[in-house]
Amino acid sequence: MQDGLSRLKLLLAEIKDLGRVAAVLDWDQQVMMPPAGAESRAEQLTTLGRVIHERATSPELGRAVEEAALEVEELDPDSDDARLVRIAKRDFEKAVRVPTDLQAEIIGTSAEAYGVWVEARRESDYPRFRPYLEKTIDLSRRYVDCFPPAEDPYDVLLDDYEPEASSADVRRIFARLKEALIPLVRTIAASGEVDDAPLAGRLPVEPRIELQRRVLELFGVEPQAWRLDPTVHPFETAIAIGDIRLTTRYEADGFESLFSSMHEFGHGLYEHQVAPALDRGPLARGASLGWHESQSLLWENLVGRSRAFADLVFPSVAELFPERFSGHDAESLFRMVNKVEPSFIRVEADQATYNLHVALRFELEQDMLAGRVELDELPQIWNARMEEYLGVVVPNDRLGVLQDVHWSHASLGYFPTYTLGFLLAAQLWERIEGELPGLEEDIRRGEFAELRQWLRESLHRHGRKFMPAELQQQLLGGPVDPEAFLRHLRGKLTAVYGESLLASAS
Ligand code: ZN
Repeated sequence: MQDGLSRLKLLLAEIKDLGRVAAVLDWDQQVMMPPAGAESRAEQLTTLGRVIHERATSPELGRAVEEAALEVEELDPDSDDARLVRIAKRDFEKAVRVPTDLQAEIIGTSAEAYGVWVEARRESDYPRFRPYLEKTIDLSRRYVDCFPPAEDPYDVLLDDYEPEASSADVRRIFARLKEALIPLVRTIAASGEVDDAPLAGRLPVEPRIELQRRVLELFGVEPQAWRLDPTVHPFETAIAIGDIRLTTRYEADGFESLFSSMHEFGHGLYEHQVAPALDRGPLARGASLGWHESQSLLWENLVGRSRAFADLVFPSVAELFPERFSGHDAESLFRMVNKVEPSFIRVEADQATYNLHVALRFELEQDMLAGRVELDELPQIWNARMEEYLGVVVPNDRLGVLQDVHWSHASLGYFPTYTLGFLLAAQLWERIEGELPGLEEDIRRGEFAELRQWLRESLHRHGRKFMPAELQQQLLGGPVDPEAFLRHLRGKLTAVYGESLLASAS
């Protein structure tokens, strides 16, 4: 008899349902809702959030977890049920450590800080946001104190996004990336040349929508299970494995909306290909934010910025944007979408500079948490490091320390997962290339079924069943390693900028 397990599954299914209802409300708010609905929607989401938190920390759930844990002792430890119980136990034990009052204070402060951040960023007024940053850091410290002492207090924050990752490992990764990327970026900024005039400014919207439609259809987006809608800040949300919502925006320059759609597609495919048996439970999502980001970056960069992909889409690009691209070819398209150019804003950064933006944030978060920086001096420290890492002089705080939403949301610990995603994507890609020798030709012909299948079998179907480090072992044969990413980047930039320039950067 497995009464505990059945009970646990039912409770978890209801929590999952409530979470997905909240996701629909959130999607609706960002895509469909008229602005005057905002106040009511905030109340609805707060109510739902409270109900979910109550259920996720209820003594009833705790009892079901304990009973189920005894019942699955006999099972294969890698079976779906044994893994489900393990993850449920982990989630429950983490959730009950945080007092409801603190949880409410974090949510309340975030809501307030977000409003202040929006205005402070608009006015480039850091002193206005500073007290809220201080509160956010204080709340993060109190949150860390709810847990047993870790080797590094930052580990506790990291664990919410990248379970069991270690700050020490992340520090080593960034040290290596900085050592390799800073001179590379400096050399390219000084003497690299790419003509990307066709991508300058706003391109006509209709042809961009058509290009995006063609690409997503080739990738495997079917109206049966997917939607794509315009929004202000692009995101992906999975309402169910058969209901994947992607969003995009057309108010961006060049092909940003196309690459952003390919990115969100990668997130969506991960959740779409989770094994149906895991749906309606806590395992029906990605293993971690790092692994999730590896999937979005794989489609955006490894596929979407490859030479073979330029061959695939150039005929459409030339047909849809005849004036802009006359006199160009697939080779020049490949070069322009891989251009390296140091800039102020992380979300607009290219593949070579992106991880330096993240390194800066990771270092500052560690210092803020440990009280090693004076918050009054944060903008100066930010600007000095931007100059050191990227060689750019930040003109104001809107383009500097105030640009990201994360520090108004009390999401310290989130940033490193972006870089982990880059590194995982590159490591995974080396393995995929080894196992699918026809991959490049498939991309050139617009055939992605084999790649999707490989990802489904190796990674997606497991959902959140395995810990991030277990997946690293299974799929990559070892921990996260920056070398595959650096090899990939050097190879690509050699193709774009030439052998001699790259050689002078090492
Ligand atoms: Zn992403």
